[in-house]
Amino acid sequence: MMRPYNFSAGPATLPESVLVQAAAEMCDWHGCRMSVMELSHRGAEFGRIIERARNDLRDLLEIPESHRILFMQGGATAMNAIIPLNLVNRPGSNATMDFVHTGIWSGKSLNEARKYGHVNIAASSEKSGFLSVPERSVWHLSDGAAYIHVCTNETINGCQLHFTPDTGSAPLVADMSSEILSRPVDFSIYDVVFASAQKNLGPAGVTLLIVREDLIGYASPFCPSVFDWKNVVESDSMFNTPPTYAIYICGLVFRWLKKQGGVSRMERESIEKSSLLYDFIDRSDFYRNDVETGSRSRMNVPFFLEDESLNDRFVMEASAHGLFQLKGHRLQGGMRASLYNAMPIEGVKALVAFMRDFEQRHW
Ligand code: PMP
Repeated sequence: MMRPYNFSAGPATLPESVLVQAAAEMCDWHGCRMSVMELSHRGAEFGRIIERARNDLRDLLEIPESHRILFMQGGATAMNAIIPLNLVNRPGSNATMDFVHTGIWSGKSLNEARKYGHVNIAASSEKSGFLSVPERSVWHLSDGAAYIHVCTNETINGCQLHFTPDTGSAPLVADMSSEILSRPVDFSIYDVVFASAQKNLGPAGVTLLIVREDLIGYASPFCPSVFDWKNVVESDSMFNTPPTYAIYICGLVFRWLKKQGGVSRMERESIEKSSLLYDFIDRSDFYRNDVETGSRSRMNVPFFLEDESLNDRFVMEASAHGLFQLKGHRLQGGMRASLYNAMPIEGVKALVAFMRDFEQRHW
């Protein structure tokens, strides 16, 4: 059975070899005659799984010893509360949080943060319909901010931050949910990085947090214990029962990535894949993408058919051609092709060939 190309924004396609390995190990992990799902999180076997996953991730992203890797729960959505709960109470910072508002996800983050302090919108592309990321020169950061929040890739409107912002002394926090592991991260600039898993990491259910160690230990008194980074670090990400199976699959994805050549190879491939699609769309009068060229996402490519009445037919026919989940987010409409690490270039070529054929038949 040939697997379809799945362009979902998340839960998203996973490398086939990872699924095959997980299937082979389903009932008997490494001769222990139990499934990973049945292993105690306190046992030696799961200890090896989580340790290997952490080490492989550290290698892949070259995470320095100054930063801790935590596996948490609640998705990137919970992080919108967890981050202020851990950072606004820090001595020396005030309760102002600076946000760069570039789309739906940074919007959700700043709305949640409003419960915990004052939100300053340092820059916003809202007026122009979130079609670009404001340049660093127009960001108005406040003095002594608890932190500065950016969403480096807006999954819905398809904008990506293509520069590393120098933001001074306040901690720089980044929601990298839909781009993590698709390119290197400069940890001398990023103090906190978080990501939900179901795009480039593995299955939904685990949330990754990479945090500079000296930011840990200042949670607000009313922060739930399970979300206090100090508790999570001290319990080795096991303050409560961790999503063991999801962590195991992430670990397999990390190993697959290492075999592929790591994040530099993923970066080259994502440039190649996204350019193929954007170039085709730009040359066509039938399809369009409105995002400013310099802010276009390599991971999520939203596009519209000029004749919107063809939308349903496009999705249906694409599906019949083995090109799945191309319908755009309900808030955005149109189409969206997500080109995460596990999407092969062949998938993008098949999509472009289908789009060309559809255009010729319906023009
Ligand atoms: N941030 C970004 C950039 C996302 O794409 C998503 C999910 N699509 C989220 C946050 C929320 O993630 P979750 O649903 O896992 O909480």
